[in-house]
Amino acid sequence: MFGELLKMPKECSNCKLHYDMEPGFWLGSLWTSYPIVILIEVPFLFAALFADGMMVWGYFTMMIVAFLIAWPLMLRLGRSIWIHLNVRYQS
Ligand SMILES: [Zn+2]
Repeated sequence: MFGELLKMPKECSNCKLHYDMEPGFWLGSLWTSYPIVILIEVPFLFAALFADGMMVWGYFTMMIVAFLIAWPLMLRLGRSIWIHLNVRYQS
């Protein structure tokens, strides 16, 4: 399932840009997707810190759910941001 999430064409159908420019190129996209996931999770973390009783576990559950929903999107958004930082767009 996770392999499917990262499936993408080898090159651009329009300009033939080879996406995997160097070995491990996409590892750099961790730097662009990770902060977005953190931003999504921090509000839940604070909510859990100031909650009491069972609601603490409620917020942690929401945190996990939010992560599972956001992660696949952020993975791809992170790659998009990463390649935009590294390749200048020309029309
Ligand atoms: Zn292109």
